[in-house]
Amino acid sequence: MKWSALAACLAVFASYGANAQTAGQLVKGASDTSNVLNYGMGYNLQRFSPLTQINKDTAKNLVPVWSYSLADDRSQESQPLVYEGIIYLTTHAATMAIDAKTGKQIWKTKVEYPPETPRIVCCGINNRGAALFDGKVFRTTLDANVIALDAKTGKELWRQNAADVKEGYSMTVAPLVADGVVLTGISGAEFGIRGFIDGWDPETGNHLWRTYTIPSPDEPGGDSWKGDTWKHGGGSTWITGSYDPELNTVYWGTGNPGPFDSAVRPGDNLYTCSVLALDPKTGKMKWHYQFSPNNPFDFDAVAEMVLADMMVEGRPTKVLLDANRNGFFYVFDRTNGKLLAANPFVKVNWASGIDMKTGRPIEADVTTDAREGKKVMVHPSWFAGAKNWSPMSFNPQTGLAYANTLSFGTYYKTRSVTYKAGAWYTGLDRSFSPFEFGDAPRGHLKAIDPMTGKAKWEVPSDIPRYSGVLSTAGGVVFTGELTGEFEAFDADSGKKLWQFQTGSGIEGQPVTWQRDGVQYVAVTSGYGGAYSIFSGDERLASVPTGGSLWVFAIRPQ
Ligand code: CA
Repeated sequence: MKWSALAACLAVFASYGANAQTAGQLVKGASDTSNVLNYGMGYNLQRFSPLTQINKDTAKNLVPVWSYSLADDRSQESQPLVYEGIIYLTTHAATMAIDAKTGKQIWKTKVEYPPETPRIVCCGINNRGAALFDGKVFRTTLDANVIALDAKTGKELWRQNAADVKEGYSMTVAPLVADGVVLTGISGAEFGIRGFIDGWDPETGNHLWRTYTIPSPDEPGGDSWKGDTWKHGGGSTWITGSYDPELNTVYWGTGNPGPFDSAVRPGDNLYTCSVLALDPKTGKMKWHYQFSPNNPFDFDAVAEMVLADMMVEGRPTKVLLDANRNGFFYVFDRTNGKLLAANPFVKVNWASGIDMKTGRPIEADVTTDAREGKKVMVHPSWFAGAKNWSPMSFNPQTGLAYANTLSFGTYYKTRSVTYKAGAWYTGLDRSFSPFEFGDAPRGHLKAIDPMTGKAKWEVPSDIPRYSGVLSTAGGVVFTGELTGEFEAFDADSGKKLWQFQTGSGIEGQPVTWQRDGVQYVAVTSGYGGAYSIFSGDERLASVPTGGSLWVFAIRPQ
């Protein structure tokens, strides 16, 4: 080989190496202000940025830099990732790389679905984002495939099928790369699936392990299911887990048991409505905690398990924070799963509290009645809970969690149901409307003290916000309305600093980064998720569909 050819080879190799995301970079993601390498803006899922160029004083000068059409009129819930000036974004139907400075598309790879793919999955057709590692973009598809693409070209490198879409399995989750393994969850608890979390080899796509969230009768916890009920026990895993590299532990939440009618599945129904602490290399469970045993409602505990270092009773503690759909805000010692606090952060009537000795909810008559098939009014609503999937932010400087909470109850009643592959398996009585909305605001953006569940401030919204939250060291909290306004609030007072109409409803996950001296903030716009589908909220009829990505920065003064 001639020297020039060898040098060219080395140059290509060096540039490839420089452009590939390393395990070390993923670990440092939360403090890497020039990139957004992780779902949740860090393995800890805090969605907090140390950046300060956009702050309480300057936020009023935010202007759009560019907007990119997603050519897709579904719900846009995907979190953008940013690496070396390139944005990687997903819809259910495509993966895209976009120049972060100009908004120009670099590549776009469509997801081809076989015609028989059911086009209606539980709660909206969407995708929540990608993972980056070692020059590859990893994503999931509605027909339950995990795909690796070349980050440079968008070319597909490998594809693996996780489960059969005809049996109600689907995927919307953003993968997590932890300890050199690609982890993915699964959707479909409303269709009688048996939930699981998978581990894949990032290089080859080889299936490394599967941990079922529903144990078989011979496994630990198997005795919490009667007869064959475990086979369709639900326990979906549709939101990305957090990861503590020092403890080498992944924290992943699980969904509701199936069917909703709990009379057919007596027992605690492990490990539904739980958080699982897993070894990412093997999928082995280190500890678990079940928020809602034998849950008769739809209280998925899938939403983000935020990791933080906090003082608890005068002691620095590695905690896990969870604003649960069941209405309680939980704080754990994440090294061992010990429950440290559990307090309501919205109106709750299904339980009077959590017994701190046993960790079990102290259930109220509403829950007993629901199990007996009586019609009840449950707070928070069985349908959306106290906070749905849309992720909160934890700001370590204020010590507060900023979350979009839901402030309404719903009627609920079950009926008997028979399992049929690929069909709804809830046992929900749909002969009446679950809704009886008053005039009160249906949602609040709250700044919550994790240890008490109490709000330092709250900002009401008539139509509840269903988007992610981002907070920054500039003292700004970003989120958005289903009516399209992307908003900035003062982290200390809740005062609105700025808003911008993005053209469709916001259900996305805002992120921020800084490059060449400019701080950018980005969010997807495009509505069509669970609330807009199921609530019958007539005020949303005038909100146009249409997906786009918006990027903002401070107008030069
Ligand atoms: Ca569910």
